[in-house]
Amino acid sequence: MNPADHQQIRLLLAHYRGSTDSERAHVEAHLAGCADCRTVRAYQQQNLALRTLPSRAPTTRLYHHLTDEIARQQAPRPWYQRLSAGWHSWRSLPSCCSLS
Ligand SMILES: [Zn+2]
Repeated sequence: MNPADHQQIRLLLAHYRGSTDSERAHVEAHLAGCADCRTVRAYQQQNLALRTLPSRAPTTRLYHHLTDEIARQQAPRPWYQRLSAGWHSWRSLPSCCSLS
């Protein structure tokens, strides 16, 4: 099988409910011999199942915790902390490179 075959099957899987009987037969024959495309179908089925779950709003405590953490991470840092972060990335250089 060439990569275009897998691509075609995955496109047909995305529109499986609207496919013709011959397209479904083609897909099923391909899936019988292709573990990769079976995995793609399993993910698609899992995704569809997850979409049926009811959505729930986060608790007030979790909401405030998340918004505070986002604000903390997006806050501008002083120059000495940015410089320190850069120094840490350079400091690890000798451990990954041989200087012999
Ligand atoms: Zn395949």
